[in-house]
Formats: sequence, C-alpha cells, structure tokens
Amino acid sequence: MEQRVFGHTGKQVPVLGQGTWQMEDDSREAALRSLRAGLDLGLTHIDTAELYGHGKVEESLVAEAISGRRDEVFLVSKVMPSHATYAGTLAACEKSLRRLRTDRLDCYLLHWPGSHPLEETVRAFEKLVADGKVRAWGVSNFSVADLEELVGLASPRSIACNQVLYHLEERAIEHAVLPWCEVRGIAVVGYSPFGNGHFPSPQSPGGRVLESVARAHGATARQVALRFLVRRPSLFAIPKASRVAHLRDNAAAATLVLTREELASIDQAFPPGPYRDDVPVI
Ligand code: NAP
Repeated sequence: MEQRVFGHTGKQVPVLGQGTWQMEDDSREAALRSLRAGLDLGLTHIDTAELYGHGKVEESLVAEAISGRRDEVFLVSKVMPSHATYAGTLAACEKSLRRLRTDRLDCYLLHWPGSHPLEETVRAFEKLVADGKVRAWGVSNFSVADLEELVGLASPRSIACNQVLYHLEERAIEHAVLPWCEVRGIAVVGYSPFGNGHFPSPQSPGGRVLESVARAHGATARQVALRFLVRRPSLFAIPKASRVAHLRDNAAAATLVLTREELASIDQAFPPGPYRDDVPVI
C-alpha cells in the first residue's frame, strides 16, 4: 500500500484508510472481517469517532479489529463539538481510549467546529499530546475562516490534518480549503469518497468516463475515483467498506496509475463547481 507523510507528524500513513461511520448497522462479523482484511492489505489508517454508534463502533468493532495489532494501526478518533471544552475533551479522549482498549490515539480530531471556545479544545489537545495519550491532533469540517481562527491559537505545524467531505461530485474544498492546507503542510483527509453510497451510475455522463478509464486499466470505476481523490501529495481517502469484496476492490486502487490525460478527463467530467471557501458537509 502506498504511503505518504501525514502532515507535520512525519509519519508515513497509507493513502487509503478505512472509515467506520454507520458500521454498527452492518453485520458485526462482516465488518470485523473487512477491517481485519484491510489491515492485512495495509489500510492501517482507521478512522472512527465517539459519535459513531454512540461509542459502539469504537468499543465493539474497532477495538476488536485492532486487538493484538495496535502497533500496525494509525488510529484516529474524534471528539464531538458539544464535549470540546478543556475538561470535556480530556474526558472524551479517556473514554475513547477505554472503549478502544488502547493507551494512545495516533491522531485526535475536533469533529466539526462548535460553540465552545476553540482555545480550550486546542489546550486540551496539547495536554493530551504532552501526556502521550495522543500522538497528534487535527480538525474536521474546518473552513478557511475556521482554520484562520485556529492558527491564531496554534502553530500550523501542530495541526496534523483537516478531514473534509471530498468526492467526485463534491470538490468544493479544491477552491480554498485544500490549497490553504497544502501551503501549510497540513494533510487533507477526504471523507465519504463514494458520496456515502451515492456513487455515479455507469450510465451517467461522468460514470461513463470512469468506466472507460477503468476499462483501460482492467480496474473498476471506484478504484479510478479513489485514485483521482488522492492524486495530490497532501491527500488521503478513507472509504468505508463493511464487505470484504468492497474492501479488496478499494485496496487495489493503491497500485493504479492514471495518466495525465485520464486525470484531465475525470476533472472535466466532474467539475469542481463555483468558488467557495467554506466546507460542504455530508
Ligand atoms: P463512503 O466511504 O463514501 O461510502 C461507503 C459506502 O460505499 C458503503 O455503503 C459501502 O458498502 C460502499 N462501498 C465501499 N466500497 C465499495 C466498493 N468497492 N464497491 C461498492 N460499494 C462500496 O461513505 P462514508 O462512510 O460516509 O465515508 C467514509 C468514512 O469517512 C466514514 O466511514 C467515516 O469514517 C468518515 N466520515 C467522516 C465525517 C466527518 O464529519 N469527519 C463524515 C462522514 C464520514 P459496504 O459498507 O456495504 O461495504
């Protein structure tokens, strides 16, 4: 699995990780099999959150999947904005660690900007880093304005990533958020790379372009999409797959190499839309 440096952490992290949102609704056995197969194939970036299944995803799925192989994993969880006071963030992290049956997170994110002072969340993140409970911290769903507020409180070098909605039919981050992060060496993790299950149909104009590129490589349209979504060195993607067949399909995208012309044809088929410096959300 291709790896790249994850922002200022200096850590090599696979370009494709594994999402876990809504996994509690799937067959537990299938989801566990898929997460473990993902680890075997090098999709070792696992993205979870206290929010997912109200803690159930951390406790009953991710903890089980990484049991005995914690050192292989780049483990990311998130604090909910409603908990993100100084004390609330520390407490939420402890609870996530307990549910995940681990002593540290590789990256801890603020799930989206909330109403508690950001300064408190940042102070808690720094305390968690100092205490070794969190290796790095970052944010999610942060617009340029949110990021500007954040760099008033913390050096850009301490912000590992911004996790944002990014798929072929939602490329708004390319206008401002992505360049802002790239200039400052902050990793951009694209979530819902398949539009949370709304992938372009093979009959749609864009879908036909994906199918044609895929055919030329003996690949699938989803592999082509994933490869496009990680085409810049700052980008990572975290598809969610509770079925091993899906997981294997996605993992194979890591070895796909698209030509400049193919990337340009996908770019044209899925235009980024009008300028915006905020972030769309799912
Ligand atoms: P997604 O990855 O865009 O799509 C997941 C859906 O696509 C599932 O129904 C999955 O089916 C299906 N799928 C996956 N691979 C497939 C394949 N090769 N062929 C056919 N179908 C395939 O959706 P997402 O869960 O919204 O996003 C991914 C992750 O991003 C989340 O799980 C979460 O970790 C993160 N996220 C973060 C935020 C945030 O606010 N920070 C918000 C949303 C998501 P099966 O599961 O049945 O295999």
